[in-house]
Amino acid sequence: MKRLVLYGLIPLLFIIGCAKAPITGRTQIMMVSPQQEQALGFQAEQEILKKEKLSTDQALIARIERVGIRIAKATGLNLDWKFYVIDKPDVPNAFCLANGHVFVYTGILKYVDNDAQLATVMAHEIGHAIAHHVAEQVSLAMMTNLAATAAAIAIDSNVDSSGERAAYMAALGLGANLGIVLPYSRMMESEADHIGLMLMAKACYDPRESIKFWEKFARKGEEPIVYFSTHPSSEQRIAQIKELMPQAMKIYRENGCDQQATPEPLQLPTMKSVNPDSLGLPVE
Ligand SMILES: [Zn+2]
Repeated sequence: MKRLVLYGLIPLLFIIGCAKAPITGRTQIMMVSPQQEQALGFQAEQEILKKEKLSTDQALIARIERVGIRIAKATGLNLDWKFYVIDKPDVPNAFCLANGHVFVYTGILKYVDNDAQLATVMAHEIGHAIAHHVAEQVSLAMMTNLAATAAAIAIDSNVDSSGERAAYMAALGLGANLGIVLPYSRMMESEADHIGLMLMAKACYDPRESIKFWEKFARKGEEPIVYFSTHPSSEQRIAQIKELMPQAMKIYRENGCDQQATPEPLQLPTMKSVNPDSLGLPVE
């Protein structure tokens, strides 16, 4: 057993450094450099663009860009922000790569009633990216693999019966998945919810709309049992968002967002004195 613990420490020798997630301030262990993460993102982007069809709906593209740019500005990060709309009505998905390139699948739009709900999705995905969750996941996989290999060597040399050895090895694989990888993913999901909520509030999108979106999204189908899932249950997700809501509303109100019916200061600088309804603008 002692030997097993020692082998488990091997990955520590390869750690590149520690990082801190934005907004939550959580300490992260990284074995992947930001350059490597960017390269992974670039590779993924080429693959996606090769096989997916981009939407040609100009009004929709403009809407995704309008919401995305506001969230991107709220991050305060000068990434190479880019927004793609993938024409796939049956896929309710969205994600953001490490380089700030965001993909929204048209299938998500049927769960979105207004721009604030669209901002909920996009801010969550941007939250994953700015917290470098991909780099952290890869780091974790590297550590888990190294630890599993080390443990396997230890089991091999310490366990005599071959049946017992096989059982240990099987438990090791399942244990690593259920015990480390999945809870870690659930934690990252909760963190992306946390970061996303604050970003949308900072971008002047009503954070209360996020609860409506997640409730609607939860009703879309069978929910996986939380223990075996990479995602927190909708109940847990909504409970956390409700807990964080006073903090988000504080940011929203401090920016004067609750005073504006349609806050689009960049495109419409003279909006404040005009009734937005008379302009036929999209309602938030
Ligand atoms: Zn997520």
